[in-house]
Amino acid sequence: MFLTNIQNDFPVLSRKVNGHRIVYLDSAASSLKPRQVIDEIHDFYLNHYSNVYRAVHTLSSESTERVEKARNIIASFLNVNPEEIIFTSGTTMSLNTIVESMLRCGYLRKDDTVLVTAVEHHANFVPWVRLSKLHGFKVEFIMPSGRFGTLEEKDFLKYKNSSPKIVSVTGHSNVTGQVVNLKMVRNLFPKSIFIVDGAQLIPHDKIDVKDLDIDFLAFSAHKMLGPSGVGVLFGKRKFLEEMEPFMYGGEMIDKVGFEDVSFNELPYKFEAGTPNIAGIVGFGEAIKYLENLDFGKIKKHIYDLTNYALERLKQLNGIEIYGPTDQRHLGIISFNLEGIHPHDVAHLLDEHFGVAVRSGHHCAQPLMTVLKNESKLSLFPNGTCRASFYIYNTKEDIEIFVEGLKKIKEWFD
Ligand code: PLP
Repeated sequence: MFLTNIQNDFPVLSRKVNGHRIVYLDSAASSLKPRQVIDEIHDFYLNHYSNVYRAVHTLSSESTERVEKARNIIASFLNVNPEEIIFTSGTTMSLNTIVESMLRCGYLRKDDTVLVTAVEHHANFVPWVRLSKLHGFKVEFIMPSGRFGTLEEKDFLKYKNSSPKIVSVTGHSNVTGQVVNLKMVRNLFPKSIFIVDGAQLIPHDKIDVKDLDIDFLAFSAHKMLGPSGVGVLFGKRKFLEEMEPFMYGGEMIDKVGFEDVSFNELPYKFEAGTPNIAGIVGFGEAIKYLENLDFGKIKKHIYDLTNYALERLKQLNGIEIYGPTDQRHLGIISFNLEGIHPHDVAHLLDEHFGVAVRSGHHCAQPLMTVLKNESKLSLFPNGTCRASFYIYNTKEDIEIFVEGLKKIKEWFD
């Protein structure tokens, strides 16, 4: 069953691109925004905006109340405590904060082992690799043995006895669209600190963070109908309490003297500087919107679209589709057309059909190497085309996209 009649909530969908109605298949990069979120931010700036926390005047109290309301919405969405929800600028900042703060408090030391996978977005790859060079901890890479970048249980099993201090994995690949079995990963490494990059997972699925026993989770508002420049770092209280903040100044301070300083309580201890106030308010509204639609229906809708698109794409000759072929494949399809550069495909889809897809390495260069090794294309262009679907996409969108690809192939034949 597809979600219907929600396209009207997304004003940008009524515009044309290059003379065509827009078909937006780039939600894995950033989703469109519904009128409800735009209106909430607009109203907030018109009627309530002020800086939060310290002032005693009415606008500041209203703004503070709205930010805390958003924090509560997000906490109950994840089934965690509001003190464990830290607002950041996005997944990248959340992940960098975890690594830096762990180093500062000694959770992560020389000779400790960190396990990451080769399919990670750079945000969950570069901080580990780069800081391991400076601090002497070790990073091991789980290589996907399944088809085209698909992670299998046996890939994780290989490291079961290596006692990693930290296991940091994506919950959903932004390239292959694979949903990773987090329960399986947690069960294999019960003693490790378990970090999940939820940038793609959280927009697609409602998860119970407590049930999965996740220690840290990072995700971004802009991939789930919210504004850009806002994200969440969830961390279990027991860790956050011991961890040293990574940035100093503003609301994260308790007392400052000439000799030393003390920090505010959670979650403010990790929220240095003026936050993205209106962005946080908009994020709360975005989660409300999604919850009203119901995540069960959202996931089903995106599965149906993905399966439909995979079936249609498989009918094309000279196409290589990456990632799993089973129910682990959700919402994101990466592919290449033999002999045509992904940037050309993306450009032609936009210009002639109004279809927005992404092309390139998708901030996952290590994974591109893996795909290249398995590719049967005569020339692998070091990147892919990526179509990604969200709640507002329809079967008709997929038809326009696939018909566009057919035409592009004809032009190059
Ligand atoms: N992790 C994954 C899996 C992503 O897909 C992205 C963005 O594409 C990020 C991390 C980084 O997110 P942001 O740019 O919002 O910080």
